[in-house]
Amino acid sequence: MTLDTPLQTAGRAFSVYSKKLEKLAIKTVGDLLHHFPSRYEDYSTVSPIATVGVGEIVSIVGSIVSTQNVYTRSKFQIQKVTVADETGEISCIWFNQSYILRNLHISDMVSISGRVEHFGSQKTINVKEYEVLEHLESDTTHTRRLVPIYPETRGVTSRWFRNRIKPLLSDIDQLFPEYLPNQLLQKNNLVALPQAIKGIHFPQDVTEADIARTRLAYDELFFIQLGAIHRKNEWKEKKATTPFSTTPWKKEIEKLYKSLPFSLTNAQKKAVEEIFSDVSQPVPMNRLLQGDVGSGKTIVAAITMYLAKLNGFQSALMAPTEILATQHYETISKLLAPLKVSVELVTSSSKKKKDKSFLPDILIGTHALIQKQVEFGKLGFVVVDEQHRFGVEQRSILRDKGTIPHFLSMTATPIPRTVFLTMYGDLELSVLDELPKGRQKIKTWLVPNHKRKAGYAWIEKMVNQKDENGNKNQVFIVCPFIEESENMQTVKAATKEYEKLRKEVFPNLSLGLLHGKMKATEKQAVLEDFQKGKIDILVATPVVEVGIDIPNATIIVIEAAERFGLASLHQLRGRVGRNNRQSYCLLFTESENEKTTRRLKSLETTHSGSALAEIDLKQRGAGDMYGTQQHGSRMLKVAQFGDTPLIHLTQQDARKIYPKLNEYPILHEKLKSTIIHSRVNPD
Ligand code: ADP
Ligand code: MG
Repeated sequence: MTLDTPLQTAGRAFSVYSKKLEKLAIKTVGDLLHHFPSRYEDYSTVSPIATVGVGEIVSIVGSIVSTQNVYTRSKFQIQKVTVADETGEISCIWFNQSYILRNLHISDMVSISGRVEHFGSQKTINVKEYEVLEHLESDTTHTRRLVPIYPETRGVTSRWFRNRIKPLLSDIDQLFPEYLPNQLLQKNNLVALPQAIKGIHFPQDVTEADIARTRLAYDELFFIQLGAIHRKNEWKEKKATTPFSTTPWKKEIEKLYKSLPFSLTNAQKKAVEEIFSDVSQPVPMNRLLQGDVGSGKTIVAAITMYLAKLNGFQSALMAPTEILATQHYETISKLLAPLKVSVELVTSSSKKKKDKSFLPDILIGTHALIQKQVEFGKLGFVVVDEQHRFGVEQRSILRDKGTIPHFLSMTATPIPRTVFLTMYGDLELSVLDELPKGRQKIKTWLVPNHKRKAGYAWIEKMVNQKDENGNKNQVFIVCPFIEESENMQTVKAATKEYEKLRKEVFPNLSLGLLHGKMKATEKQAVLEDFQKGKIDILVATPVVEVGIDIPNATIIVIEAAERFGLASLHQLRGRVGRNNRQSYCLLFTESENEKTTRRLKSLETTHSGSALAEIDLKQRGAGDMYGTQQHGSRMLKVAQFGDTPLIHLTQQDARKIYPKLNEYPILHEKLKSTIIHSRVNPD
């Protein structure tokens, strides 16, 4: 048996369960051994029976003196087993598990772990785990120790995992040849790999579990870092279409700046500089532009597109939805048309161009842009907007191309530094950490349930009131987050909420509904009505149209705010406050949990996306931070994004080792297999 042995061929004990285990992505013996416990139950305190106290979690060891199946008046059955040691006896009970009595017989030696409770006038043990022992001193698997609890799936329990994993651990030295260089193990005080695998599954104590976890977390991060360096190196071997020149076009770029209705923020200027420096290299750019909603990423992309055009190249911009693509098309045409740049929108609803000889300078569209085999002439620059799976698109556009364009990904998702280093280590990063002048902070309030009515009344008042320039206030109401993707359940919930609001809460206002299952033309129509002010309140699902720009939208209500991470809430509230008028965000919650309330309240005082992302990371871990909407969130099995020192350490070590990989053949092989593995599963 090796780590690669499929469970299907590893004997009946495994093969019978192989289908079920696939749900946990466990296919081979190696996968099974890498299925780590999520926590441990501490049953290590062994007590003489006479000394156990009510409320304690204990383990007892003794022999069975009687067994009994008790029928109660309700449908319940209780299995009662009395166990004795030299200090006394106690009955141990199970509920509705009559098969237990087939495994337990009088005078069997057993070890039992559970909670001591009153049962009538007697002390009993409510059994959590039990096992029959051969000898008093036999090694235990489920009781009187730290007992591993595994992520489970239907029909496969932690008990099953323990029973299968433990025997495999006796061959562990053969199964896991060490791949880390000795110097790294010594320098970082890491235990050997077999010891770590043993220690994480069946630790003697908490310290051993920690030591094991540290080693495995190190490995996990170290390979991510090596992989990132490797991808970066591969990228550097590619040839850019042609480096753009910048100096000859200084005047033209100046002219573009002068034509803008505003001056760039310092952050925007810096990002443009970084991008210009990249695109003038013979290596294609691979950069991520990150900035809060409203920080002005589009213009940075547009300036670079203009530079591409000046150099005789085409640009393409991909947006996640047609609505965003259309909005980009309008903004960018307005900006660049006066400079004689041709811009074209390509969507699934736009008609095929008959005249193939016309190749615009800029093509804007959804991902249909790549799929539709759009003709490019000389594509030199590609922008991907609000795209959470950076890199994947890039690869697909790259297929079968000799030379490749410069790439810029743009996102409003605040990414904590450590997450960036780990997940996107092969990208360069520019950050817009500054909002354009004059933007006001969005006033944010947490609205508990008993103030909901007052909240609605305030909204109605605000909608009916115009400011001195005759502008009205418009409102987004975001329905609760139910599932990662827009499904019928979400749509139903949104529709129900919409009907309730329209009929019962705001009968005097005009309401609209927007969800992802609507046709593009329907969505467009609703948004146009909203843009024109025909709709006062737009009820929408959370996954809909992140970057949409509605200047008069000054109020956003987020329902069941506790279901979102802070970073997502921050992104949502960025839908308002797009102009210089005071905007408001109302977070509705029915939760009265103090921790939740405190977490949500941080939005009242904190207005920086990255600061909120860091808070999320500390309080809920990265998985929650991104919901399940985004790539990379659950990619770490053992390590944690919050573990900054370890992330930095593995990065330094990977940089040092990578150039000398040839000296470490086992490590080199291992890296190759991880890279192949991650290519097959881009998620
Ligand atoms: P995002 O980063 O969310 O994509 P956009 O690029 O859509 O932001 O810009 C949001 C709004 O801010 C747009 O209306 C844009 O014209 C405006 N804007 C961008 N940069 C500036 C600036 N430096 N000063 C003032 N307004 C700006
Ligand atoms: Mg945008």
